[in-house]
Amino acid sequence: MSDPTQNVITRFAPSPTGELHIGGARTALFAWAYAKRHGGSFLLRFEDTDQKRSSKQAEQNILRDLEWLGLRGDNHDAIPRQSERLDLYNTALDKLKAAGLTYEDDGAVRFRMDKPVAFDDAVFGHIAVEEKDLEDFVIQKADGFPTFHLAVVVDDADMGVTHVIRGQEHLSNTTKHAALYDALGEPRPVWCHTPSIMNPDGSKMSKRDKAKLARQAAKQNAWPTPESIDASRFDAFMGKDNDDLDIATAIAEANGLELPEIYVDDFRRSGYTVPVLLNYLALLGWNPGNDLERFDLHYLCEHFDFDRIGKSNSKFDRDKLAAFSQDTFLQMPEDEWIATLKAHFEAYFPNYIEKLGDGFGVFAMAYKERSKTLSDPAELGKFFVEAPAAYVPKAVKKNLTKNEGEGLKSLAKVRETLAALPEWKAEPIHASLDELWQTLELKNMGGVAQPLRVALTGNAVSPEIGPTLEILGRDETLQRIDNCLAAHPSP
Ligand code: GLU
Repeated sequence: MSDPTQNVITRFAPSPTGELHIGGARTALFAWAYAKRHGGSFLLRFEDTDQKRSSKQAEQNILRDLEWLGLRGDNHDAIPRQSERLDLYNTALDKLKAAGLTYEDDGAVRFRMDKPVAFDDAVFGHIAVEEKDLEDFVIQKADGFPTFHLAVVVDDADMGVTHVIRGQEHLSNTTKHAALYDALGEPRPVWCHTPSIMNPDGSKMSKRDKAKLARQAAKQNAWPTPESIDASRFDAFMGKDNDDLDIATAIAEANGLELPEIYVDDFRRSGYTVPVLLNYLALLGWNPGNDLERFDLHYLCEHFDFDRIGKSNSKFDRDKLAAFSQDTFLQMPEDEWIATLKAHFEAYFPNYIEKLGDGFGVFAMAYKERSKTLSDPAELGKFFVEAPAAYVPKAVKKNLTKNEGEGLKSLAKVRETLAALPEWKAEPIHASLDELWQTLELKNMGGVAQPLRVALTGNAVSPEIGPTLEILGRDETLQRIDNCLAAHPSP
């Protein structure tokens, strides 16, 4: 056990073989929070000993996501890579060889596990393994690279890591690591393994979920091979030969299928904000010991400790995340909501920014109460950037064609009124329509506004009519009314 008075050093050590998984972000958050709580350091390290699968692009993407989350390593400017530290591993290897603890086997070097091993995990407690259940294991591969086991121990010792916080999938490796620490004469760190994150159906939340869903949907709907993918790759994917993410994505895009968010980048694109995501992640496996669910990073840093991490798997509850998010939007001051939404749209829906111009604030406010993510307004308010491709039959019947085309007649009058308006602003637009329904002796404003909504959106739902028309502009509004009238000749 390490000395409790020493400076705490934690680390996050991803393998740069793909995007940062949401579970990885949770591990990084815990390691970061623990270091901050104790005034220590949080370090990063790239574990790229699997040279074939590792890439600089993946490193950059992981760093981009950690930065976005605000989990910056204290060694940000010089993040070690295992592939650049071979000397260090060789030195350790020589030491183990000299102590007679290794032997060669098919060009690889194995470490002898010839003593029982026990260690204490901060979450899973005391774990003891008898000699008969231990196996010798490879510490250097035939290609001269160290295995994960040797590299992780040498690095953590070299970097002075005092607390190793990582996913539960590494718990079974820890006997090996404990034995290596002892053999190298290095003090063991505190180990803290965090419970796995599961889907609601009990399966482990994994990057394969995307492939699984895409394959299932493609099979069920007999979707053809997406154009960008060649047939043999598609067949292999469908036959479960691989879980290629590019293929899953191509299937989803070609068929309008939504794949589950798995990576941090997925959640960012979907429009979850950093505080919401971190708050939700903190509760995956940890709780503050009271009923408090909504808290910020500051609170987490003040209260985070290993004793409130549970042993059981944590379920990733998307509805709860969405509820946190919606709740946050509801509480947000208007200015902040508009600015937050704008930043998201600038990144992901720039065409809306261009189209909406000064109307962005009105657009944003129209969807503040109904949005669970920052991307929701793009879906809800799609008609602002795209004329309706079709009209919902039920809405047409109810608002246009019934009673001998009453709605269509109103719509024609609406067109006349709007075309003649001297000033295209929300208030005069509203006032003129308010006057019109009375002149036409209709029951209420809906008598003119609903047919108009169908013409503009294809359905009978839109934000307030004045601001909506102001944003759309006169030409676009009149054009859509004309299209709608042409598509629905009066009975
Ligand atoms: N590179 C390992 C992984 O991505 C990290 C293992 C560890 O944290 O010790 O799973």
